[in-house]
Amino acid sequence: MMELRIGVIGTGGIGRDHIRRLTDVITGAKVTAVTDINKEIADKAAKQYHALSFPTGEDLIESPEVDAVLIASWDPTHAGYVLSCIQAGKYVLCEKPLATTARDCLKIMDAEMSYGKRLVQVGFMRRYDKDYRAMKEVIQSGRIGEPLLVHACHRNRTHITSHSNDMTVTNSGIHEIDILRWLLEEEYASAQVLTGKQNKNAAEGLQDPQILLLKTKNGVQIGIEVNMTSGYGYDIQCEIVGETGTVRLPDPSALLIRSEGKHTHQIFTEWSQRFVDAYDNELQQWVNDVKKATLSGPSAWDGYAACITADALIRSRNSGTSVPVTLQRRPEFYD
Ligand code: NAP
Repeated sequence: MMELRIGVIGTGGIGRDHIRRLTDVITGAKVTAVTDINKEIADKAAKQYHALSFPTGEDLIESPEVDAVLIASWDPTHAGYVLSCIQAGKYVLCEKPLATTARDCLKIMDAEMSYGKRLVQVGFMRRYDKDYRAMKEVIQSGRIGEPLLVHACHRNRTHITSHSNDMTVTNSGIHEIDILRWLLEEEYASAQVLTGKQNKNAAEGLQDPQILLLKTKNGVQIGIEVNMTSGYGYDIQCEIVGETGTVRLPDPSALLIRSEGKHTHQIFTEWSQRFVDAYDNELQQWVNDVKKATLSGPSAWDGYAACITADALIRSRNSGTSVPVTLQRRPEFYD
């Protein structure tokens, strides 16, 4: 296969960014088809990138002009499109979350196992960030001993008007849920959410910030601040405390400026600026893997584990207690 022909479902913020990336940055692929429920923006993207514009996601998935599919539409549409891709036998990269319910994640795993081969990858792109990768190498080398504690924080400058309490977990904290599972290489045992004094700049009724507490099966204690109204920037922090040392995610490299009596460096304000290289690496690896017919990125099992954990956190916020995180047995298919 010379160039992988990709169809993109959802031409909103990240969909358009991925189309640009696949066209201008990634080698070995081209976007041949797009669709969006908002036909106007799909047509605009199609015209700009010389792609076909399809009336529905299902039409795009079935098109012979499409070898593989990238889903970047609204969260509740993901599961249906992923299932259609499996039915069509096409590789699919689905932006996070894989589905909004654990039941739909299980349906996806069942469909993929029945198909007999991995077709689904979930867009947990932080696994492709060079600094998180370096952290994992340090943990695996044993230099800081066994991990004991994690302090993490996910701060957005501000939130979209439709942001809900649950989305703090399912849309933002989901990145920490995945990346910490990946760094520590173990599943969670229990989950709890703490809320306290609310930021008056958050929308009325939005519990912000929220503290997500997770405990892994080996007893690693994790505290994640998810703060949707930091007011100053998009700021991601992560520190692992081990038995003999610690390892911390660095701030993204930025120029240090000394002027007017101050020493400053920029803090990004948008998520789209913070992990640019990770998105590039993720898509390039996915294209390479699809061309070799072997996926290596986050699987439907990872999407399911994140979804179950998010569900437990939401139940805890509603009940005010710690709740167990109960996963089904991991099928060998996903080892
Ligand atoms: P967005 O700007 O709202 O774009 C989503 C697009 O999907 C909108 O144009 C929306 O149209 C369209 N859409 C809704 N229902 C559809 C359907 N049934 N079929 C086709 N298109 C449909 O949102 P976004 O920020 O790009 O986010 C899109 C997805 O990417 C979300 O699932 C989000 O969680 C994920 N995401 C991941 C990351 C990451 O770091 N990995 C970052 C950002 C976003 P309407 O606006 O008319 O509804």
